[in-house]
Amino acid sequence: MENTKNISSIKTVNPFNNEVVKQFEVMSKDQVNTIISKADEAFKNWRKTSFAQRSAIIHKVAEIMRSRKEELGKLATLEMGKLLRESIAEVELSADIFDYYASKADSLLADKKLETPIGKAFISYEPIGVILSVQPWNFPFYQITRSAAPNLMAGNTMVLKHASNVPQCAQVMEDIIREAGAPDGVYSNLFIPGKDIESYVNNPKIKAVTLTGSEPAGASIAAAAGAKVKKSTLELGGSDPFVVLDDADLDDAVQTAVYGRMWNAGQVCVSPKRVIVPESKYDEFLQKVKDIFSKLKVGDPMDPKTDVAPLSSEKAAADVAVQIDKAKAQGARILLGGHRVDRPGAFVEPTLITDITPNMDAYFEEIFGPVFMLYKYKTLEEAIELANATEFGLGGTVFATDKEKAVEVARQIETGMVYINHVTGIAPELPFGGTKGSGYGREQSEAGIYEFVNEKLIRVTDSKNPY
Ligand code: NAP
Repeated sequence: MENTKNISSIKTVNPFNNEVVKQFEVMSKDQVNTIISKADEAFKNWRKTSFAQRSAIIHKVAEIMRSRKEELGKLATLEMGKLLRESIAEVELSADIFDYYASKADSLLADKKLETPIGKAFISYEPIGVILSVQPWNFPFYQITRSAAPNLMAGNTMVLKHASNVPQCAQVMEDIIREAGAPDGVYSNLFIPGKDIESYVNNPKIKAVTLTGSEPAGASIAAAAGAKVKKSTLELGGSDPFVVLDDADLDDAVQTAVYGRMWNAGQVCVSPKRVIVPESKYDEFLQKVKDIFSKLKVGDPMDPKTDVAPLSSEKAAADVAVQIDKAKAQGARILLGGHRVDRPGAFVEPTLITDITPNMDAYFEEIFGPVFMLYKYKTLEEAIELANATEFGLGGTVFATDKEKAVEVARQIETGMVYINHVTGIAPELPFGGTKGSGYGREQSEAGIYEFVNEKLIRVTDSKNPY
């Protein structure tokens, strides 16, 4: 598969120094269709394996990941630049998600008895076939896991189209799942560029599609799936509000918001992208943000002392720099940062922007980088209006001492998830997903395993019954 001679869109480029490390050959149409056919063939046996057999394999995947977490973590950091400690934590989280579904799938997918006055009725949860999973680079292992763990446990097989800049992470996961005992064809990579994937949605052997990524990619995949009456789930972008109430512990709120925003160099769908603070606390909050910013260390993601990593690629850094320049040109104030860092690599300075108004693009769009946008409000109604003034609806935070009041505010935020006194987080047993332009469907938790199963009704009556 490796080919260092040809120019390929699928390659490892270390964003710390922008050096090309390894290139992969793009698969031909025939190769892709052969892999999809193998996944379809493998489904015939995989669906008949018992939960105990599948569970042993999936627990083994988790065990291998944990035993190799340093090595896997370094690979993620090499390919997309995140801090090594964040990469290792991501590998551990992914192992936890594999374990969660390996332990729970048999009870979640057990027949569910229905109450009916006539005869017996129950739901039989059945796998549907090959699932196409299209995933982004920002959490190279976790993103794979969210769809692979529940679906492999449900008895589906999977072909993964990972982002073109993390091919080694994609390859090592295929290797691990195979090493854990998954038969040939149960889980395979497709090394093809994103723009080519839409045509494969039409392949009749693909039964459903899940995509995490940008809105244009999601819309095109969902349209292709809809045209063939195939189910899809979409986990798209976000512009999470972080609403601080006037009784909040400001030191705690500032720490949580700044480090939450700098996590993964700001390239997190559920990052606190818009921090909304009461006018009465604004100056104090702003000063505290500046104090923390002055301590942030930008640098080598392998160095444990670094706080802010490079972005995932030169293009990602250039795109964020353009968004910052545009905000400035449209009248926003860039109080700190605002430039590329003067060193090799895909670095952008941690940036603090204020005075953003609805006539600026920054008010509405997602900025996928270390950019902290601070807003102020006079009334709670105004704060909620600001929080909801976006097409996105993924996550959000309310920071407050009075938790009941915080929950009241949380109910009025139009997103799929709201966390109180915490940035939008991730846990195997909690659902993850959005509403509005952030997509539809849920991953993780009990909900994640029901997305791609046939919830089949079986009703048993005697033949004399006319209905
Ligand atoms: P992207 O360009 O949409 O890429 C995501 C995946 O889709 C990649 O595998 C990509 O392949 C593929 N792709 C690109 N264009 C496509 C097309 N026209 N049709 C089908 N697939 C296509 O996303 P990104 O900008 O790299 O990733 C960041 C976005 O993902 C942000 O908006 C972020 O908020 C969102 N995200 C959401 C979640 C969530 O759970 N809601 C989680 C993480 C990220 P190539 O790499 O080959 O282009």
